[in-house]
Order: sequence, then C-alpha cells, then structure tokens
Amino acid sequence: MIATITYRPNAQKTPGLFDLLLTREVLLDICQLVTGQSQYRVIRDLSSYNKGRLLYVEYNGVINYVSLSEANIGGRNSSLQSVPTAINLFYEDHRLNKRLCYYFISHIGNAFTDYHLFVYRLLMTAGVEFLNIDRYYHTPVLPYKNVDELIIDRRDNQTSNSSNNSSYVSKSRDKIQIYAKTFGASKYESTLLAIAISHIADRPIDLFNICEQDLKSLPQSSLNTIDSLGNISVLNTSLFLDKRAYFDSGKTELRSASYLYNLFNRLGAKRCALCGCEIPEIIQGAHIWGVSQISKSTEFDDDTKFGHAVSGHNGLWLCSNHHKLFDSNIILFDNDGCVRIKDDLVTDDVAFIRSTTFRSSLDAHVLSDEFRGYLQRRNETIDLTHTQKLAM
Ligand SMILES: [Zn+2]
Repeated sequence: MIATITYRPNAQKTPGLFDLLLTREVLLDICQLVTGQSQYRVIRDLSSYNKGRLLYVEYNGVINYVSLSEANIGGRNSSLQSVPTAINLFYEDHRLNKRLCYYFISHIGNAFTDYHLFVYRLLMTAGVEFLNIDRYYHTPVLPYKNVDELIIDRRDNQTSNSSNNSSYVSKSRDKIQIYAKTFGASKYESTLLAIAISHIADRPIDLFNICEQDLKSLPQSSLNTIDSLGNISVLNTSLFLDKRAYFDSGKTELRSASYLYNLFNRLGAKRCALCGCEIPEIIQGAHIWGVSQISKSTEFDDDTKFGHAVSGHNGLWLCSNHHKLFDSNIILFDNDGCVRIKDDLVTDDVAFIRSTTFRSSLDAHVLSDEFRGYLQRRNETIDLTHTQKLAM
C-alpha cells in the first residue's frame, strides 16, 4: 500500500513556502514516521493557501494531520499560533479514523523554552502525537495527567515570565474555570488550554470569555471545537454585562468573572496572602473596599463605583478561613498592610490565628498605591484602636 501526502504549497504571505520546507527527505521521514513504510505519492493542492502549517498523510484508511513547526522559532506567539488552527481544522473533519501529529522541521531558534514546553504538554494532553520531538529534546515531554498538575505548571510558568494578560485556570468544588483571554495571540492559547483541559477534566468546565473593549469572543472555529468536546460551557463575560448584573442587584452584589480575572492579572495564581495556601478550591477573591461599602459612597457616580468594585487593586487572594476572619474584622490590616487582630479575642483563638497565619504584613507586590487607597477607605469605617499587631 502506498501513502498519499497532500499539502498546500502556498503560505498566506509566502508563495511556495511549503515546497521549500517539504523536501524529499522531509516527506520521506514524515511518511516513515506516520505509516511505518516508505512508499508515498504527493498531491500539491493549489486551491487555497496553507492554514495551520499542515500536510495530510492518508494511509490504510486513516487520515493523518501533520502540523509542522516553524523553521525560524521566534517569539512564543508567532512560533505557536498555527497550532490551534490545525486543531480546529482537525475537529472540523468528521472522518472517524483520524489522527493529529506534530512534526519538527529542522529549525533555528529555541523551540524548547519553558513556555514552548508548556504548550507541547498541552498539545499532548489534547491528544496530539509528536512524531520526532526526541531528536531535538532529550528529556521526555509528557501530557498532563490531571488539572492540578497543569495549574501548578502554569503557575510556575507565569511567575517566571510575570506574563500579564494571559488566561488563567482555577478550580472550585464542582467546576473547573478557565478565564480565557480572547484578544490577540492569547485567543490561541485559550483555545488550546480549553481542549487540553477537556481531555483530563474530572468535573464540568466553565470557560469565561473575557471580552474586552470591543466585546470580542473567541473565534467561531474555536467555539465550534470547544462545543464539540461536550464538557465545556462558554460564558461570555464583559464589563458591560457585569455592570448590568451589578446594577440589577442594587449595587450590593458582585459576581464578576472580570473581577477575578483582574485579580489574577495583578496578583498571579491563587495563593492565600496570609497562610500561603494554594488549594484553588478554597481560595477566594476578597474585596478590600467592600462592594456594599462602595455602594454607600456618595462621592462617585455609578460607573466609577462599578470600576472600584471590579478593580484588581481592590482585592487579595485569601483562603476561605482567612477571608471569613478578614470580613468579620477579626483579622485586619493597618494602612501599611501590617496584620492586626482584635484585642479582645480569647487566648485559644489568638493561638489558633497565630498557628495558621504566617505573615505579619502583606507582601510588597500586593501593596500598590491603589491598594493602599482601598485599604484606607476600608479602615475609615473600622476602629483600629482595639486591635493589636499580630506577633509572630
Ligand atoms: Zn489562608
């Protein structure tokens, strides 16, 4: 039996690019890796340009999609943006016997930065087979076994890159949340995150489309793929919709994915500011200047109030225990972010707080000027005189 390799030679901006990349050696190599034999014929499809850096190998009743790496590995966004397109095209193909593969053509530049490796792991988790990664990278790269492993890896990656404005993954007791940035290159990453997580999720997934200025959602092809996975609900969220819900509630409630997204953006992954707990199920976004306090203010118009309610500076990550202690004003912060406790607590309660609280003041990265401003507003309504510094 002989394999049929089909590809579109023209790239959108570079006519004939894939004729140059797909030399006889490369085609033979791909044929051998995909089919285990060396016989193939080639069809050059000139009907349109190449999307997803793809070629197709048909053999023995199976259609194999092969997505090619870049020859010149540049920034992380440019070197990986064809991948979600390849995945979407793969999902649009309704043939039953299909397989999606990734092939490294010989390249210059570093294709194995921490971020690239993260994306390869996502691809593997999404079911993509890497045909020849072991020739270029000598440590095994493995798919994620579960969402916790992915969240931890993501967190480490984001700390090292301090990459703002990307997408975030979290978990509650009964759901997984993806806060998906839909703008620019992030939309590719959001799509890939969703597909990978869908394959390992042990509970339903909510994907929040974080729409910005122009209410952009994820591209339709990505939404179709996500829809076909069957375990992801896509929820559009925007400041416009959040604002309407906020006013409908009489300005006392804020259930806003945008607020959590803004906290992620400012503070990074969920981690209790007082004990360091990182179990996503029990870490919450805690308002500093509370939503009902804001609504009582006579100083601002409604739009400005809403802006304060969703500001990423107006909050902290706290575990549910510390959140309750903070909301009950049993644990407080002075205007410099030092931790204080009520001074009429019984000895056992003080001992309990001491044994579970490992910070005597907030970290510097939390204490932005805006954050201090919110703290001041909170403290205007609290009597700090009957409190004491939390001695460690
Ligand atoms: Zn805590």
